[in-house]
Amino acid sequence: MDKKQYDFSKVELHCHLDGCYRVETVAELAKKRGIDMPSYDPEVLKKYITAHDGCASLDEFLQRMSVAVKAFGGDAGAIRRLVTEAVEDKARDKVKYIEFRYCPQLLANCDVTPLINPSGNLRPKDVVDVVNDALEKAATEHGMTARTILCDITVYNWATDVLELCKEYKGKGVVGYDVAGPEHDPFSQEVEETYRRCASLGIHRTAHAGEVGPASRVKQAIEKLEVERIGHGYHTVDDDDVLNLAKQKNTHFEVCLLSSHLTSAYTGPWSSHPAKKFMSSNMNFGLNTDDPGPNTYGIIRDYDIATEDVGFSVNDLLDLNMNAARSCFLEGAEKEQLLNDLKSEYDQYRHKSLNVSSSKCSLI
Ligand SMILES: [Zn+2]
Repeated sequence: MDKKQYDFSKVELHCHLDGCYRVETVAELAKKRGIDMPSYDPEVLKKYITAHDGCASLDEFLQRMSVAVKAFGGDAGAIRRLVTEAVEDKARDKVKYIEFRYCPQLLANCDVTPLINPSGNLRPKDVVDVVNDALEKAATEHGMTARTILCDITVYNWATDVLELCKEYKGKGVVGYDVAGPEHDPFSQEVEETYRRCASLGIHRTAHAGEVGPASRVKQAIEKLEVERIGHGYHTVDDDDVLNLAKQKNTHFEVCLLSSHLTSAYTGPWSSHPAKKFMSSNMNFGLNTDDPGPNTYGIIRDYDIATEDVGFSVNDLLDLNMNAARSCFLEGAEKEQLLNDLKSEYDQYRHKSLNVSSSKCSLI
């Protein structure tokens, strides 16, 4: 397929910063910092930190990611490089607006319990400062707009700390709150309470739900967590009541086609992927990479899958980007500007495509 078909500005709302690494960078930094890795040869290391050959489960995928993240954890320079390269990669795919999500506690090496990295002097707050600074510089250089969502991971006990950082940095680079983790059980009382506090503080909310967990978790996220968006949410299609609830609330679904395939979260054929039902039910959703580092592909690969395998048109992709822009966590004039810019660019793109296809017709 001619990649020029996707030569338009894109919006991405679900992309883990700590899943945006380049294998070569992980190898180089780990070697330089003396961090133990299965190999410092990128070709060999690839087997251990990416899902290029697929993973048996989401847990295995996350385990591979956690090996790579050690190369960045607790080092401001390494985190800066992670951010800079992530933005470079997104700019190459013409992503105009992105919300990167990450857990500051996972990249810190002090003031965190449990401590994931060897101890040092980088607090979670320092991680946010480094990410914000690097992100603003890199995004400006590439003519992009980038914001962050701070992400709690339920297996740790960091919900309140993540919320405090969201509060402190609201309007200063951070635009929302997210929760990730195993989906076997319903969200805990503590998670529900944290989201209630987010809502009362005017902090935007998304949550991972319904990727491997049931539709009831999506229902809980919408009703109890008062989320505006859902990460993945595929199992919503198993329950018409939940699907209707999401539609009525205009909940946006952050669909990640390739990622959920590589993690074995979705194992069915592309032609019956839940995104297809989202489309036919006129749901609010968009396309995202989730973790381009371990996935070893950027958003273009997801667009290829969407058009070649799922059955969406390029016109559909423009609509999905508009959905994402309307559901992003920017506010006021900034959001209006993004919507206006995209609308006028897409109008021109559609007009141009129409002219090209009609001139082709006249030649036949
Ligand atoms: Zn995710």
